[in-house]
Amino acid sequence: MDKFFKTAENFETALRLIEVINRTTDDFLFVLDIANDTNRFFGPIDDEFDVRQPGKDTNTTAEMLNVVYPADRKALTEDLERIAKGEQQIHDMSYRWFNKRGEIVWVNCRGQVINDENGNPYIMIGRVSEEALRHLYNPLTGLWNKTKLREDLAARLNTGRGYLILFDINGLAAINLSHGRSFGDELLREVANLIDGAPNVIEAYHIDHNNFAAIVDAKEPSELEAIYTLVCETMKDKCSFASGAVPIDKEIFIDVGQLIDSANMTLKKAKQSASDRLEFFSSEEIEERINSLMLLEELKESVQNGFEGFEVYYQPQVKGGSYEIYGVEALLRYVSKTRGRVFPNDFIPLLEQSRLIEQVGLWVLEEALLQCKKWREGIPGLRVSVNFSSVQFEDRYIGEKIVDVLKKTEMPGNSLMVELTESIQLQASEHFSNRIKYLKAYGIGLSIDDFGTGYSNLGYLKQLDANEIKIDRSFVSGIRNGTYNYKLISNVIEFAKTNAIHVCCEGVETTEELAILEGLRPNIIQGYLFDKPCPAAEIEESYINASSEQFKERVRAINNIYRFKAEIGVIHFDAQDILRENDIGLWVIRIDKAKGHFEMHTDDTMDRILGMERKYAPAECYAYWHEKIAEGYADYVHENVDIMISTGRMVQLKYPWNHPTLGTVTVRCSGRRVEDADGMVVLEGYHRILSDVEGI
Ligand code: C2E
Ligand code: CA
Ligand code: CA
Repeated sequence: MDKFFKTAENFETALRLIEVINRTTDDFLFVLDIANDTNRFFGPIDDEFDVRQPGKDTNTTAEMLNVVYPADRKALTEDLERIAKGEQQIHDMSYRWFNKRGEIVWVNCRGQVINDENGNPYIMIGRVSEEALRHLYNPLTGLWNKTKLREDLAARLNTGRGYLILFDINGLAAINLSHGRSFGDELLREVANLIDGAPNVIEAYHIDHNNFAAIVDAKEPSELEAIYTLVCETMKDKCSFASGAVPIDKEIFIDVGQLIDSANMTLKKAKQSASDRLEFFSSEEIEERINSLMLLEELKESVQNGFEGFEVYYQPQVKGGSYEIYGVEALLRYVSKTRGRVFPNDFIPLLEQSRLIEQVGLWVLEEALLQCKKWREGIPGLRVSVNFSSVQFEDRYIGEKIVDVLKKTEMPGNSLMVELTESIQLQASEHFSNRIKYLKAYGIGLSIDDFGTGYSNLGYLKQLDANEIKIDRSFVSGIRNGTYNYKLISNVIEFAKTNAIHVCCEGVETTEELAILEGLRPNIIQGYLFDKPCPAAEIEESYINASSEQFKERVRAINNIYRFKAEIGVIHFDAQDILRENDIGLWVIRIDKAKGHFEMHTDDTMDRILGMERKYAPAECYAYWHEKIAEGYADYVHENVDIMISTGRMVQLKYPWNHPTLGTVTVRCSGRRVEDADGMVVLEGYHRILSDVEGI
């Protein structure tokens, strides 16, 4: 090879060859004669860059430096010197050039040195690529962009230290509007140069619009304060900045995603504060991160030691109305050696972020299926619900893995319900629906967890062919506080019934909640009212071992629920007809006291309960209800309405009311103040009759 280039003839042949190769690429190839400092570029480089004098086909390093961005010249010269001295055989650098229009572009330049027969550097052949970096920088300011920031942070998180600082120009849109776009662009370039040239800044980035970042070689927050002050002071006549900084430290952040999220969080804090400032990731936040990373280490160790410290608890799900056991939900528990019991909400996100959930999740599945298999001897047809994270469904073989566990435990597909919390990523993905279809082909059920909190919509449920939806506890426990919850649940159940989807109400804690919910006839109920999640052995005692104290206790508790429901009168409990569907009326009262104007808006059920023969206008309706409040009770009702208005709390009242056809009945009413509308105080609530319901 070396000898080949040594004869002039061969050298010319080589150049012609390079000329040809150059036509196949958008890069610019070059051959540098090191000893003579003569560089030859190939291709139409003169169209874009003034690297050489017009008409000449070679240039010197000094000529080439003219197009290099001043701040990058030193590093380039040093690199070329090392090459000339034979200290280095490969040149690989990214730096900025000016193009003919004076714009900054990043190029990546790579070359390989060829030595002469004495081992001295002779020529370097290489290429300059603008294309390679085009997706990595912002053409307006010439700074690196977000993609490059991620790459650099990833590398730095592994090896180095320092800080990431974010800058946000306040009110850039307004500046553009009042001074014009080109003023705004000039401002951005000025800020870019300023940050790029600030002391200790290793690399600067233009993230988007008004957003800049820098990786800073700093040990102390004060060094960042200095940069922030410099930028603010220099620009103070034109704009102001909010800024946030976090240490680049792998003892604090698991990955780049977390680091960037945290930096954004500090920036947000800075923006929310009244004056412009630089906000740091607080020491408490750092401590919290370190703490959770330590917990993650423990979790990893536990997984390696055969899932030591992990345990699966089970929470029964009962059938609506009969309260017979229908299934159990498997819920993961963890007891740490150093900190004792840890809440799932604290350790499950860590398992997800680290993807340990993939292993742990399959372990839970196997435990749960084995347990269910055993319990099926005493409770035929028992089902088990197992939670899966969306992380687990990113695995293209998740379907196969689940089915493998079923086969291994010799359990039928329909004994398993896969619970998934719906997320927006899942919605969009075709892969996801394919994985679900795979499971369904084995008879495995799909349950949409935490329904109502996320992005779920009813059409999507149908498309996914879900078997069950679980209405989130926040709706269930709020059912007493607002008609919105009631309406939501009622609509969902209505929809589900027509589409043969089961409804499970989660987090039912009180008999009252149960009574209201059962008006809507959910299929399944799960909550502390029946059972808390407990170890497998306790389920056995309460549900299978009929002679145990726990078993008897449970039967007593259920009888109490029956009795309670029977006592309050409204809720006629019998196995066939759990509850009349139409005994709860919804109302909204709107009040303008100053004008003495009162309105009542009612739903159809309410109209029926009030015995109205037709739909009344709101003011008329209010008067109808109000005048039928039994004598001597109007003040009591008014007082309670005033409490609703002044406290915003849920208020319950009970009063006799003169029904047009039933005579005097006792009415139970709950209501509370919601957001005012049209300048009127708005109250919302429900209404039912506690006696003589028959005949309405
Ligand atoms: P989830 O799937 O929504 O589980 C229901 C949560 O509500 C459980 O919390 C349960 O203990 C609690 N709960 C049930 N009934 C009531 C009630 O009447 N009142 C109240 N206040 N709470 C009730 P837990 O066990 O702390 O689990 C929290 C979350 O952790 C679960 O929410 C689930 O998202 C996740 N999780 C638990 N085990 C696993 C697992 O094995 N894999 C995955 N991926 N996630 C799991
Ligand atoms: Ca669940
Ligand atoms: Ca849930």
